[in-house]
Amino acid sequence: MRFSAAVLRSYEDRFAVEEVHLNAGPADGEIVVKIAGCGMCRTDLAVRRSAGRSPLPAVLGHEGAGAVVETGGPHTGLRNGDHVVLSFDSCGHCRNCMDAAPAYCDSFASLNLFGGRKENAARFTDGAGDELAPRWFGQSSFAEYAVVPARNAVRVDPSLPIELLGPLGCGFLTGAGAVFNSFAAGPGDTLAVFGAGAVGLAAVMAATASGAVTVAVDRHPGRLALAERFGATPLHAASSDLPGRIRRLTDGGVHYALDTTASAQLINDALRALRPTGHLGLVARLHTTLPLEPGALDRGRRISHICEGDAVPGLLIPRLTGLWQAGRFPFDELIRTYPLADINEAEHDCEAGRVVKPVLIPEGRSV
Ligand SMILES: [Zn+2]
Ligand SMILES: [Zn+2]
Repeated sequence: MRFSAAVLRSYEDRFAVEEVHLNAGPADGEIVVKIAGCGMCRTDLAVRRSAGRSPLPAVLGHEGAGAVVETGGPHTGLRNGDHVVLSFDSCGHCRNCMDAAPAYCDSFASLNLFGGRKENAARFTDGAGDELAPRWFGQSSFAEYAVVPARNAVRVDPSLPIELLGPLGCGFLTGAGAVFNSFAAGPGDTLAVFGAGAVGLAAVMAATASGAVTVAVDRHPGRLALAERFGATPLHAASSDLPGRIRRLTDGGVHYALDTTASAQLINDALRALRPTGHLGLVARLHTTLPLEPGALDRGRRISHICEGDAVPGLLIPRLTGLWQAGRFPFDELIRTYPLADINEAEHDCEAGRVVKPVLIPEGRSV
């Protein structure tokens, strides 16, 4: 099978859209998906800074969605024509997978980021026959087709706009899952979101849908305006005494804070904005040690890392599409579509903060 894909050959190169070859069909338990759209996530772009850990050349993309065109074996639970949203990979049999916490799978890093599943030799190659890295997040969806473990595919209502649903498998799942699962925020609870990108704005939408009261901190006026539109009180990150302002807006401090910035300064501000027993969740990877101010965790305050919104994708993705249909999770307003051929422009716009969530559409079909 031959199809177009965006290949990254070195950490500095632009993506090159070229023909790739899939030299064997799906193995037992796998499916082939014709990609209708694939979101671009910060983790795709972070490969450039992975210092050799993420193998290249590779086809990235881990927010794919599309239609099943082939199934491997009788036990995938899916049929040709089913619409599916693809999410992160997990082994399915380690303790955390068995405990409904697949984002903390013992094999998460190797399956999604660095090693990949054991492949048949040279199953996925470029046009010259040279091997490509194993599937990124079990999918490699910056392409017309992806081969995926059926375990990572969530069937959705075919009346939904499938080309836009891919980010429900990672970025939007992360923000919304933090609110629904990690915090279990309810009516009247208070939340501060630091960084109003795709993850932070999904958290704002989920908090509003839960009846929680949100303050959103960012330095881009456009993103603050979006946060306000989705129900948050906007606060510029450069405001003086940010924690004090948040405490005054939330009757003494927030129950929950979500940091998407990895800024040590903002993480300490977030801790100072928490009420006693408050919970700060971190979703971005820290690149430096994190100094904590004395007393930052006093009185039951806690800090934890949150991966993929503590989500079981098969449960959370249908919940998010249901909320979207009810007009209560308008994630499509954060999306701008690009033909897959314009992936470098999408990356540029993403890095420059001109788009919250690019979604790449193969075959140049834009919506
Ligand atoms: Zn596992
Ligand atoms: Zn992601």
